[in-house]
Amino acid sequence: MKVERELPSREAYELLELVRDVAERELRTRAAHFEDSGRFPRDTFRLLGDIGLLTLPFGEDIGGGGQPYTVYLQVLEEIAARWAAVAVGMSVHTLACHPVVAYGTPDQQAELLPQMMSGHTLGAYSLSEAHAGSDPAALRASATEGPHGWTAQGTKAWVTHGGQADFYTVFLRTSPDPRNGISCFHVEADTAGLIAGVPERKMGLRSSPTAEMHFENVFLPADRLIGTPGQGLAVALSALDAGRLGIAAVAVGIAQAALDYAVGYAQERETFGRPVIEHQGVGFLLADMAAKTEAARATYLAAARRKDSGRPYTRQASIAKLVATDAAMAVTTDAVQVLGGAGYVLDHPVERLMREAKITQIFEGTNQIQRLVISRHLAVPTL
Ligand SMILES: Cc1cc2nc3c(=O)[nH]c(=O)nc-3n(C[C@H](O)[C@H](O)[C@H](O)COP(=O)(O)OP(=O)(O)OC[C@H]3O[C@@H](n4cnc5c(N)ncnc54)[C@H](O)[C@@H]3O)c2cc1C
Repeated sequence: MKVERELPSREAYELLELVRDVAERELRTRAAHFEDSGRFPRDTFRLLGDIGLLTLPFGEDIGGGGQPYTVYLQVLEEIAARWAAVAVGMSVHTLACHPVVAYGTPDQQAELLPQMMSGHTLGAYSLSEAHAGSDPAALRASATEGPHGWTAQGTKAWVTHGGQADFYTVFLRTSPDPRNGISCFHVEADTAGLIAGVPERKMGLRSSPTAEMHFENVFLPADRLIGTPGQGLAVALSALDAGRLGIAAVAVGIAQAALDYAVGYAQERETFGRPVIEHQGVGFLLADMAAKTEAARATYLAAARRKDSGRPYTRQASIAKLVATDAAMAVTTDAVQVLGGAGYVLDHPVERLMREAKITQIFEGTNQIQRLVISRHLAVPTL
C-alpha cells in the first residue's frame, strides 16, 4: 500500500516519489538475493550517495540535503520497506557523521566534511565492546596521549560496516574516569594497525556486515580527536538520540512491508470458500497490525517534530524506538501467522522481515535500555 504522507513541501513530496521509484527498481528486486548470500551491496550505497540520499538531514551549507528529520525518517522508512539492511546502513552513516558535524572544529569540518558529505564514503559508528553494550561507560579500548597525538589499543565489537567503511567514528577510553574518561575519534579505514575481524554470522540483516575492529598501536594525530578529551560519552549519546529515531523509522518500514504482504496474501488465499481476510479472526489480526504500524509512525514523527523545532527529544526518541520496534516485532510475527505454513518458508519475505524486526529491538540501546531512559526522564522531568 502506498503510505499517505504528510510532508512539509512540494520538494519533499517529489523526493519521496523519487525514493519509492529507486527503492522499487534497485532495492526490492535485489534484497532477497543479497540477504541469502550475505554479500554487502557497496554499489547500492554509491547509487544512493549519487542521488544525495546518504546525507539528507545535514545542512546544505555543509553539503547535506537540508531536509528536516520528519522527511529524512520517512525516506528511511520507504527504503527499509524494501531492504532493511540498506536503511540501517544509511542510518549508521548519519550517526557516524554526526560528531564531526556537531562537535568538529572549523578546521576539522573543512578537512573532513567534503568527503563525508560526498555520498561516496560510508561511515561506521563504533561505541560497543564485547563487555560494554548496554553500559558503554564500561568500555576499555583506549587511546594514550603522546607528544604528537594518540595511540589506540583494544577491540571494538559489533561494528556495522566493520571492514567495509571508509571511516570510523570511534569512542575510546582516554582516562579512568567512567563518565568523563571517554573521547571520540575520527579514524580513516586505511590507518595502520586498524584491523577488521571476521564478520559475524547473523540471524538477519545478513547483507549488513557486522565485525569487531582491532586497534593494534593505531597512531591517531592530535587533530583526529573530535570534541574535547573526556567529552566522548556525551557526543555518543547525543548521536544516539537521533540514531534511535532512524531505527524507529526502519522498524516502521519493516512493519509496513509485512502488513502489505499479509493483506495481499489474505485477499488471494481462500479457505472455507472465501478469502481468509473475510474471516474475522484474520481481518482483525490485520486491523491490529495496521493500527500498530500507523501508531508507531505517528510516534516517531512526533519525536522528529520536536527535534526539528530544536526542543529536547531524548525521551521521545526512546519512546519512538520502543514503540516502533516492538510494533515491528509484533506485526512481522503476525504476518507469518496470516500466511500460515507459507509464512514459515523462504518463498515469501515475511520470515525475513520477522528476523529483521528482531534486531531493531536490540541495537542502538535495547528496549530495556529505552525503558531506563524513559523512566529516568519521568523521575527527573527537567532531564
Ligand atoms: C547486528 C548488530 C549491529 C550492531 N551495530 C552496532 C554498531 O554499529 N555500533 C555499535 O557501537 N554497536 C552496535 N551493536 C551493538 C548493540 O548496540 C548492542 O548489542 C546492544 O546495545 C546491547 O548490548 P549487549 O549486546 O552487550 O547486551 P547486554 O548489555 O549484555 O545486555 C544483555 C541483556 O540485559 C539487558 N540489560 C542490560 N542492562 C540492563 C539494565 N540496566 N536494565 C535492564 N536490562 C538490562 C539488555 O536489555 C539485554 O536484554 C550492534 C549489535 C548487533 C547485534
